[in-house]
Amino acid sequence: MHKLMLKLFIPMILIFSSLTVYGAEPTKPFIVCIDPGHQAKGDGKSEPIAPGSGNCKARVSSGTAGVGTKKAEYVVNLEASMILKQLLEEKGYTVYMTRESHDVNISNAERATFANNKGVQMTIRIHCDSIGNGGKTGATLLVPSKESRYTSNIYEPSFKFASVLKEKLGSKGVKVNGIFERADMTGFNWSKVPVVIFEMGFMSNYNEDRMLSDPSYQKKLMEAVVEALDTYKEAL
Ligand SMILES: [Zn+2]
Repeated sequence: MHKLMLKLFIPMILIFSSLTVYGAEPTKPFIVCIDPGHQAKGDGKSEPIAPGSGNCKARVSSGTAGVGTKKAEYVVNLEASMILKQLLEEKGYTVYMTRESHDVNISNAERATFANNKGVQMTIRIHCDSIGNGGKTGATLLVPSKESRYTSNIYEPSFKFASVLKEKLGSKGVKVNGIFERADMTGFNWSKVPVVIFEMGFMSNYNEDRMLSDPSYQKKLMEAVVEALDTYKEAL
């Protein structure tokens, strides 16, 4: 090859190879399951709380309702979940929903199995809290138990995501009461994929109940989830 050609050719190769690495890098694909908690009617028939377990719980409970709004939790959960679905799909995430309507009957074990079968990388279960103390407020994050033989292998990524979510919520001024391990939740024990319950706030508090039905507050909470997933997946 002519010397001048080489002088031009080598820089060209370098430029094109760097473009391939930095310019055309696809974002990492990531599959999420969103589980909007509860449904129009609870189902008191029982199911095992874990694969092969003799302990049973109701297939799906009816959830709470707003102290002031009188709105059912399952309605708020789906409103927020649909916002989350849209935000995630806009960013290129693949999203599976356990439900997109209220008139369904899907047990907690069935919801977990659905996510397992879809091969998702994170399940986010959207709920609202309620407690006898009307003064209690704030979001709460629940993760599978580290000690449970059913969930010890999904604890670490679940906790990691919950930690990032706690931080993102905090940076938006949302109070987070903490991250708590639970060994008694059917939807955790049947899950083979990392899973977090996001209790968005307390419907037993008048002010928070009202906020939880406000689309702009729902969006703020769901934006924190998206930011947390962005950070979590980039660290994988
Ligand atoms: Zn709930």
